[in-house]
Amino acid sequence: MATVEIRNVRKAFGPVQVLHGVNVDIADGEFVVLVGPSGCGKSTLLRMLAGLENITSGEIAIGPRVVNNVPPKDRDIAMVFQNYALYPHMTVFDNMAFSMKLAKAPKEVMEQEVGRAAKILGLEALLQRYPRQLSGGQRQRVAMGRAIVRNPQVFLFDEPLSNLDAKLRVQMRAEIKELHQRLRVTTVYVTHDQIEAMTMADKIVVMNGGHVEQVGPPLELYDRPANLFVAGFIGSPA
Ligand code: ADP
Ligand code: MG
Repeated sequence: MATVEIRNVRKAFGPVQVLHGVNVDIADGEFVVLVGPSGCGKSTLLRMLAGLENITSGEIAIGPRVVNNVPPKDRDIAMVFQNYALYPHMTVFDNMAFSMKLAKAPKEVMEQEVGRAAKILGLEALLQRYPRQLSGGQRQRVAMGRAIVRNPQVFLFDEPLSNLDAKLRVQMRAEIKELHQRLRVTTVYVTHDQIEAMTMADKIVVMNGGHVEQVGPPLELYDRPANLFVAGFIGSPA
């Protein structure tokens, strides 16, 4: 596990500035939710944490190490995307073992690690199925399983539930929280859904137009919003 520090991070795509000096401190094992309207820069920030997008200025540290120039594969992070990006031609087992296969891990290690993740997620009976033979919730669990087998120091989620129906979304929220309580891996979770943020976060980061408007635990934001934007955003129904 690890702390994550985002220090005065800016991002420009050509002439367009999309992040204007973002500061966030994340404690070891904390579940932090980045929330804000579409286009405010959440995914860009998450992709910078993952190393998929370079940093225009500022610094990102994971644990004691500044990672600005560290490639994604050396960052000790695992990311779960909105479209789970499972390999359709591979079984659940092979999807989950893929990163270990690339790293040429021995078969026994793959079986052990996939078995461990499958047990945590209740996927033991589904390991020989293909993604098309799974429900939306099961696919979502496989995507999480792929992240778990990597034993990352940090989990990054980008709107992982937005393709699910409302009922399943509520169920998966609880499952992801339970997973976090069990593993205590530092987590940065992006959503545009304020209910999801309020129910899942230890700490919420409210973003708007490439700025951070407020950082705090859900109740603090609810009771003492720093400004009208936060009040409106947190207070309005999803
Ligand atoms: P969010 O995830 O909060 O919806 P994004 O981080 O995806 O927002 O996008 C923030 C802003 O950056 C948007 O205005 C978007 O159009 C712009 N943007 C994102 N990626 C690129 C890119 N590769 N090139 C140019 N503009 C981009
Ligand atoms: Mg996004």
